[in-house]
Amino acid sequence: MTQVYLATDIGPSRESNEDAVAALGRETYVVADGMGGYTSGEVASKMLVDAVREALMPQEHFNENGLKNAMLRANEEIMKTVRSNPEYAGMGTTATICHREGDEIAWAHVGDSRFYLLRRGSLQQITKDHSLVSELVANGSITPEQAMTHPKRNVITRAVGVSEDLAVDTGHFRAEPQDILLLCSDGLTTVLPESELCALLLHAVPAGKDAAQYLVSRAIEAGSHDNISAIVVVYDA
Ligand code: CA
Repeated sequence: MTQVYLATDIGPSRESNEDAVAALGRETYVVADGMGGYTSGEVASKMLVDAVREALMPQEHFNENGLKNAMLRANEEIMKTVRSNPEYAGMGTTATICHREGDEIAWAHVGDSRFYLLRRGSLQQITKDHSLVSELVANGSITPEQAMTHPKRNVITRAVGVSEDLAVDTGHFRAEPQDILLLCSDGLTTVLPESELCALLLHAVPAGKDAAQYLVSRAIEAGSHDNISAIVVVYDA
């Protein structure tokens, strides 16, 4: 039996939860972290989830290309909403989606939410952050440790809903027994470094805890001020 845990929390200091998490069916999971003034971040992340669901669920089979097309459709829908509702100007959302079909796990991604694979005790980030600090780390201007506390760590360089020519990262890999997947928003990863996420998962999963709720609670204890979301998928075979 595959175990799936989903958790999202407004966090201690925000007035709204702009994150959205969803299990869409057909082993498809989404994390979205919205941005924009007033309530528009919330609107954008929910629109993303709904548009992706509508695009994918009528299809019997889909791969990383299908995930990408669903994201492009969400992009169009959010942009259309912004055009006809000026109060939503500037809204957008990150989106990280994964889908398993048979032995294959496909993913699509835009923004600074993350998709991790925990396999044989080690945690690997599958997605690349589309953020200013990750560009600075890549070109050697700052270290990964400095990125975690950088004043501009929240600036993302790509989002769904802000530009017609959206570039979507995609990929796929072969699933192995006992793989554990983690999708999460930056409210989790800003306060919990990878080594700690790995240790927490290796504690929570064998203990049968709600691993997503466990990670979210640890992030709040660690001082996260953002909205915090996690989806943990545990395969047994
Ligand atoms: Ca966030």
